[in-house]
Amino acid sequence: MLRREPPLVCRQMVELITDYLEGTLPRARRRRFEAHIAGCEHCTEYLEQMRSTIRLTGRLRAADLTPQMSEEFAAIYRGWQAERG
Ligand SMILES: [Zn+2]
Repeated sequence: MLRREPPLVCRQMVELITDYLEGTLPRARRRRFEAHIAGCEHCTEYLEQMRSTIRLTGRLRAADLTPQMSEEFAAIYRGWQAERG
């Protein structure tokens, strides 16, 4: 049975998303990132939440996410992974 693994798992996406939004993600990784986003509704939703945060705060740094937001998002992703089994 053929199972196609995503190029990046969602947990990695969380780690990359700030770099992506800041435009500091290397081109190759950015391409893989966008490929994953296109096929993952959860990460699309996450990305939209992050963009909303940027609109509110004017900028986004990794420090802005910790600790509360990081924990929140980590919990969200754990929930998704649990749903998938
Ligand atoms: Zn994802």
